[in-house]
Amino acid sequence: MPDLEAVKHQLENRDEPESKMHLDSLFDDVVENALEQKSRPADSVGAQHYSDPEVMLAFYSRLFPFKLIFEWLNRSQTPSNSFSHREIAFTLQNDAYLRYNSFPTSEALRKEVLRLNPLRFEIGPVYSANPRDRKTLRKSVFKPIEKELVFDIDLTDYDEIRTCCSKTTICQKCWRFVTTAIKVLDIALRNDFGFKHILWVYSGRRGAHAWICDKSGRTLDDANRKAIATYFEVVKGGINAGKKVNLKRPLHPHLTRTFDILKQSFQTDILENQDPFRETIGQDRLLQLLPDKALTEALRKKWETQSNRPSTNKWNDIDAIARTRASPNLDPKLLVMAKQDIILEYMYPRLDSEVTKHTNHLLKSPFCIHPGTGRICVPINPSKAEDFNPLTVPTVTQLLAEVDATSSEYTEKDSDVSKTSLRPYIEEFQRFVDDLMKSEITLKRQRVEEVERPSSLDF
Ligand SMILES: [Zn+2]
Repeated sequence: MPDLEAVKHQLENRDEPESKMHLDSLFDDVVENALEQKSRPADSVGAQHYSDPEVMLAFYSRLFPFKLIFEWLNRSQTPSNSFSHREIAFTLQNDAYLRYNSFPTSEALRKEVLRLNPLRFEIGPVYSANPRDRKTLRKSVFKPIEKELVFDIDLTDYDEIRTCCSKTTICQKCWRFVTTAIKVLDIALRNDFGFKHILWVYSGRRGAHAWICDKSGRTLDDANRKAIATYFEVVKGGINAGKKVNLKRPLHPHLTRTFDILKQSFQTDILENQDPFRETIGQDRLLQLLPDKALTEALRKKWETQSNRPSTNKWNDIDAIARTRASPNLDPKLLVMAKQDIILEYMYPRLDSEVTKHTNHLLKSPFCIHPGTGRICVPINPSKAEDFNPLTVPTVTQLLAEVDATSSEYTEKDSDVSKTSLRPYIEEFQRFVDDLMKSEITLKRQRVEEVERPSSLDF
């Protein structure tokens, strides 16, 4: 295991990055992630500290779980095309973006990461041929054939409804939106689509990614990915849209189940923590979403004299006023449906569906460092999503300090990770990867048996 001095030496003496050589092939490929990268300089103060080349290199060489990443993508200890034809894209310290890299083994990936010392790297699809050879191949021969189905939840998509924070800041109150989205999606992906191997990963600042690793998810074509993305689309329209939730009744079973999950915490997560209806703008939005003119007029009148009335009271006022028969023509069923739609508008997962729709979309690798927060993109156990606190996820500088502080207490046999607070996250990932590899072996065995078994007509 290299020590920090050796790492520094390696950094000082490394070759020029390959970015210059690759630039000609870059520009036609860069567009996909350009937007996200442009936002990087706006990162919070101190960001430079976390992405210091020495810090990054020490992290990659001492703590990054290359072997596990290999096993996850390869689903076997023996190297195969699942790994060697997989695109890896690097974002370098100078912001150059290198696409279509691929590696035969985890050690080859590790070497290149230590040589380039990238800010982060992203994982793309498995191609029909080695991505490095793409220039010598006809387009019909070189195409993406497999990639995990992915989902992206980002709190910026909640900016119109979260009141506690905005833009890049998060707190435990608004993280509840992510927790809820994980719960809703995870159960739907398992129950409605039969997926079993769903890896949830913290994105390092204000969101989470899901990687569905089952073969049935990896081999979906773009049309089917789009269909699944559409299945999860409930809140539609931008900031000035009218009613954003328009659902037929009776509700689809997915939405009935989702609504049952959401309504349990609407009181605390929305009415109390976000308090969205207290201010005039939020109050107007609430009234706009109610069905009956006489009812909304009665509510508006009641609230005129109580400008600072909390959302919980305003929400309760709706039924209270309805019961006074302020509106003789009020249809109680319509009111119930409107209230359901409001709960869905304020709580249903908001997804960046473009990420989900395309096989060739790249997504940041688990265990990369977020340059703005220094936090590691660690796995989140969906069955304990409620316990996950993004604000206590270890930062890279914290982890390196832990390694240094304990280095004399351990024998050389201990890996550096075992000394740090990254350990439980690595163990979590290891369990996930082991399960995935086991089920892949079972799948292969079943396929062999099917081929060998004589069909019932053959005797
Ligand atoms: Zn917040």
